[in-house]
Amino acid sequence: MEIRIGIGFDLHKLEEGRKLIIGGVEIPSDKGFLAHSDGDILFHALTDALLGAIGFGDIGELFPDTDLQYKNLPSEIFLKEAKKILDDKKYKIINIDSVIIIEKPKILPFREKIIENTAKVLKIEKDRVFVKAKTNEKLDSIGQRNAAACYVVVLVSKED
Ligand code: MG
Repeated sequence: MEIRIGIGFDLHKLEEGRKLIIGGVEIPSDKGFLAHSDGDILFHALTDALLGAIGFGDIGELFPDTDLQYKNLPSEIFLKEAKKILDDKKYKIINIDSVIIIEKPKILPFREKIIENTAKVLKIEKDRVFVKAKTNEKLDSIGQRNAAACYVVVLVSKED
């Protein structure tokens, strides 16, 4: 069996009056993501991690932010497309781990919902997905609530 690892990172600006959508879940907040799509940092980083694991480009190459057809679209579209590429190449997801870095609001009350939705979009068991959240200790742009970021690692496998 072949096993491969992938890493993904994403960051988006936060602005007042925008929706905060993480893992496809809308989280009540006075600030949300300013982005071409919905700015879902978890789904963007996860899409990149999946594509990176199989060496298949990245989210910016597959879905350019200059392309109007992706404007304001839910980011699960990118994630589903990346999963389809893995499926086509016979790769299975072993597990996903992630760290969301956001000062406010607290993500923990929404963690289960984010995990369930991510697993649903990818059509995998939810115990293969984990989500953690950290603050940036009030430091820098993330700590001052001007941005939020996300790291994701994935492990994928393919039978010989
Ligand atoms: Mg992004």
